[in-house]
Amino acid sequence: MIYDEEFETLPREALEALQLKRLQAVVQRVYSTVPFYKKKYDEMKLRPEQVRSLDDLQRLPFTVKDDLRDNYPFNMFSVPMSNVVRIHASSGTTGKPIVVGYTSRDIDLWSGLMARTLMAAGVTRSDIVHNAYGYGLFTGGLGFHYGAERLGASVIPVSGGNTKRQVMLLQDFGPTVLTCTPSYALYLAEAAEEMGIDIRKLRLRVGIFGAEPWSVRMREEIERKIGVQAIDIFGLSEVIGPGVSVECIEAKNGLHIFEDHFLPEIIDPDTGEKLPWGEEGELVFTTLTKEAFPIIRYRTRDITRLFPEPCRCGRTMVRMGRITGRSDDMLIIRGVNVFPSQIESVLMNVKEVAPHYLLIVDREGQLDTLEVQVEVNEGAFHDEVKVLQALQGRIQKEIREMLGVTCKVKLVEPHTIKRSEGKAQRVIDRRKI
Ligand code: ADP
Ligand code: ZN
Repeated sequence: MIYDEEFETLPREALEALQLKRLQAVVQRVYSTVPFYKKKYDEMKLRPEQVRSLDDLQRLPFTVKDDLRDNYPFNMFSVPMSNVVRIHASSGTTGKPIVVGYTSRDIDLWSGLMARTLMAAGVTRSDIVHNAYGYGLFTGGLGFHYGAERLGASVIPVSGGNTKRQVMLLQDFGPTVLTCTPSYALYLAEAAEEMGIDIRKLRLRVGIFGAEPWSVRMREEIERKIGVQAIDIFGLSEVIGPGVSVECIEAKNGLHIFEDHFLPEIIDPDTGEKLPWGEEGELVFTTLTKEAFPIIRYRTRDITRLFPEPCRCGRTMVRMGRITGRSDDMLIIRGVNVFPSQIESVLMNVKEVAPHYLLIVDREGQLDTLEVQVEVNEGAFHDEVKVLQALQGRIQKEIREMLGVTCKVKLVEPHTIKRSEGKAQRVIDRRKI
């Protein structure tokens, strides 16, 4: 089922015409209301009227995270504070957060996009949604909440934390939809198991997981352990929050970007040049309709590709692949580029270990070191030391063969790696200290 049939199935030509009209309006608006854009465009002798086609977008400069930090907290807003009804901020653990704002029309738009998202994942008004995304400054909780209400589903606003109680509610309230980060989904499954509850026997049938990278193997693991169809959702605060793109349940292959509101580009992260569809690069977004916090050519640092092939669900909106890494959290270890997701893929293929891991990067003298800590499964844990050593060696070899980097593998006891209630922290880079 399609929530916004008219827009989500627009033929490409009509969609592009709509995008151009909206693009021209938003460029005009940021130029006349946000000093940051005016100054930049004036310096480059750019006039909003020069945007005559979608290709002209490439003449405009990028916006990056530092620009948002420089304009902390409200200087990127395009409307007076009296028109702002909501503030959110990124969860960034170091330094000042990125702050975003919404007018009441923005909230209305966002709710509609989240209703679209939920319906794409197969959710209807008869569903009960257990929403374990964090409520607060983080966009996840309230984003899903408003969308579920807009759709007419029943929403349980549990937020993150208090995991045992969440398991009790899953059992007693019988929600059919689970929304949280993929790492928290696994944590919930684990907690249920410890409590002697078979989470697969509960009424959950769909899970909508995002806000952090996860692999196809992790999807299989979640589907098997929880007994749900696991759907990937993508979004970021700077663009709107969740509700930028989502997989459809019909294909579960790529995330449809809501292109009538967010214009995507893929660029070469080194040269900034726009790449053709199909090629992998950094994802860049321009918001087309947001009022309080419009953003032009925002570099997400997320690496993926776009593919326009028609989808069996009937949506015409372009799909993006899973995020394969970030151009900034890419680790460079002794000159080798390593994405944590690549190591995750290797680990997920080893049946003796659990999907809980931590990468510790350090430097000894001039040499970078990488330690991969991974939990052994309950079953394998009691194996002889010899067996465990062999396992260690096997993982090490796999990683060296797949990524070309030598690392130390440390097998740790089940349940010893810190679980997260929101986004999992998978990398500790001690080299910066
Ligand atoms: P915060 O900045 O508070 O951590 P955001 O939601 O703004 O939260 O973070 C957005 C980032 O989270 C994205 O740029 C991307 O790197 C990551 N992300 C979100 N959804 C996904 C997903 N489905 N797969 C991979 N990464 C994701
Ligand atoms: Zn589809």
